[in-house]
Amino acid sequence: MNLPDAIVRAIDGLRAERTQPLCAYLYDLAALAEHVRTMRAALPASCELFYAAKANPEAAILRTLAPLVDGFEAASGGELRWLHGLHPELPLIFGGPGKLDGELAAALDCGVAAIHVESLGELRRLAVIAAARGRRAPVLLRLNLKLAEAPDSRLVMGGKPTPFGLDEEALDEALALLRGEPWLELQGLHFHLLSHQLDVAAHLQLMRAYLGCFRRLCAEHRLELPLLNVGGGMGIDYRDPGNSFDWPAFCQGLAALLDEQRLGDTRLRFEIGRFISAACGYYLMEVLDIKRNHGQYFAIGRGGTHHFRTPAAQGHDHPFAVVRGARPAELREQAVTLVGQLCTPKDVLARQQPVAELAVGDLLVFPLAGAYAWNISHRDFLMHEPPQMLFLPAG
Ligand SMILES: *Cc1c(COP(=O)(O)O)cnc(C)c1O
Repeated sequence: MNLPDAIVRAIDGLRAERTQPLCAYLYDLAALAEHVRTMRAALPASCELFYAAKANPEAAILRTLAPLVDGFEAASGGELRWLHGLHPELPLIFGGPGKLDGELAAALDCGVAAIHVESLGELRRLAVIAAARGRRAPVLLRLNLKLAEAPDSRLVMGGKPTPFGLDEEALDEALALLRGEPWLELQGLHFHLLSHQLDVAAHLQLMRAYLGCFRRLCAEHRLELPLLNVGGGMGIDYRDPGNSFDWPAFCQGLAALLDEQRLGDTRLRFEIGRFISAACGYYLMEVLDIKRNHGQYFAIGRGGTHHFRTPAAQGHDHPFAVVRGARPAELREQAVTLVGQLCTPKDVLARQQPVAELAVGDLLVFPLAGAYAWNISHRDFLMHEPPQMLFLPAG
């Protein structure tokens, strides 16, 4: 696995300055900006691109993305407060199950662009709160669609019983409620049925189904809606990064699909997390110890899955590069298991991976660590020090 020059240079600099074995997250903000610009340029004109901040809400990531996206999606009241505090000028979407009354009120007070309503109960509560505050609530109804073909992915959130979204059967009642509530303004529908999608053809098939359902529901219920939010879910292949979601091919197919299934003035909105931020992040561990145990080699790095839970959460061997230090190799052409400092056998980042050379003091560099990584990790377990957070500037 090869590292970009900017990362190698930054690592050399860190090494020269270090007084302790290194343990850090390193983010390449220039690469992030370039990636999103490219994504944006490929999208058809009638599409919007929001960033789903739960993938990585670091302030520097948000600052880099703010001028390049149409807005941010908050999946909780906490994220909403954070995003609004940092970027009050940017359109925000508020989604997620189990919203508190106070959070719905805060969303209205900060002027959110859309609230994704997940249930009839939530819609009723929002109606009361909006009326009491005399504030218009822009609503998208999240629907858990029934599709002829259930999508096949590791993180399916719909098309089967889940806590997410309204049942199609509840739509009549939701629309009746909306028609009777002057403070609720229905702006569109929201579908987000899966994550970890690697297959462009399958995702275009899903988009076709989304557009078909949207048109059918609008016709059946005589709705004219300005927005269809089609979620995120574009996948990163951690086992084989070159096989990750092919965004340019997807956008080409999407343009053809939109030509064919005319949506009129309705805009298509994406809210993407992992595929935007995963590639800009690197997790660095310096090798503290190398040992042989029951016939297998182990390298123990400074840090572990309490900083970088992604491989444990996804159950994969994370790809990595070795940046050699000054010491002569202790291992040559050996398979080695890369672990952290936790007293649990689950603290494994990659199992029995071949390395050309390895010594104590070398750096293990794990790419694709910019999404669902630090922020999903059980950082307080064992009370180790947190990693350094380092950002290579965007410009
Ligand atoms: C998490 C989430 C997203 C982003 O998903 P990614 O797989 O990170 O692109 C988008 N929409 C909703 C509703 C989500 O819960």
